[in-house]
Amino acid sequence: MIDLTLLGSGGGMPIPERFLSSLIIEYAGRKILIDCGEGTQVAMRKFNTGFKTVDIICITHFHGDHFYGLPGLLATIGNSNRLEPLTIIGPKPIRAILETSILPITYLPYDIYVVESPPEKVEIRRTKEGLRLYELDSQRMPEIILSTIQLDHSTPCLGYSFYLNRKPKFLVSKAMENKVPRDIWKYLQEGESIAWDGAIYTPDMVLGDERRGIRLSYITDSRPIEALADFIRGSDLFICEGTYGSDDDLDKAIENKHMTFREAANLALNGEVEELLLTHFSQSMDNPTEFKDNAVSVFANTQIGYDGWKKTLSYK
Ligand SMILES: [Zn+2]
Ligand SMILES: [Zn+2]
Repeated sequence: MIDLTLLGSGGGMPIPERFLSSLIIEYAGRKILIDCGEGTQVAMRKFNTGFKTVDIICITHFHGDHFYGLPGLLATIGNSNRLEPLTIIGPKPIRAILETSILPITYLPYDIYVVESPPEKVEIRRTKEGLRLYELDSQRMPEIILSTIQLDHSTPCLGYSFYLNRKPKFLVSKAMENKVPRDIWKYLQEGESIAWDGAIYTPDMVLGDERRGIRLSYITDSRPIEALADFIRGSDLFICEGTYGSDDDLDKAIENKHMTFREAANLALNGEVEELLLTHFSQSMDNPTEFKDNAVSVFANTQIGYDGWKKTLSYK
């Protein structure tokens, strides 16, 4: 299961009433942060998410409302006595941008691994040093699959989707039936294939049927491109930008490469997701709830995001 905290729900610039859009995903006591605008570390303090256990930071793009808070946050994480390496993912040219923006920080007690424009799918795995990124390995079942997609925004921008695999049940009777040696049960249970005594043993020889995992998708900032419906398909929760609430702002949404509530809701419908959470509201929109019907009339299970919104996604 994963615990989510929407740290902010604004777009453009931070205002006293609304932090900038950002999400904390908590999994197995460790954390993944998506985006870090100005003030995100203040929101983290306000909503008590902690700093020390943030292992991965996913940056969608380099507009200030998604990125300007990162150097400050990295310094604060350094002050929390973190020693384990931290991974930062983002589109090109994140490496060059980080090299200049981190330069003023005189001392960081931990290493930073930069993953620039990752492959479409990678694995996130628990290790002794927290969550780390790995290439997919066909020999084992990935713990979490992180997928990325190029979005349609005014600058290179990545969308992120997380799929937490749920291990099938271990069936002792099946293992016995297939005469799998007891010594290798635990490896097969972990999804590894094993060569043993001249034979190959595969996980399906001891495991039950596949079980549905948990999918979470996070899309901001973008126009609603066609490929997105497949990218988010079946998400338990789809967090999406809704920069403009009113249908009258469609022209602005097209011009500035954003979405209206109705467009985000259409994506949710086409992607057959379970729930839509809107975020990244324009600072000109005082009360996004006023426009909720524009989304709900298309996709009923729509929520309007707010700073500090929390939810736990569990296996069904
Ligand atoms: Zn933005
Ligand atoms: Zn943007």
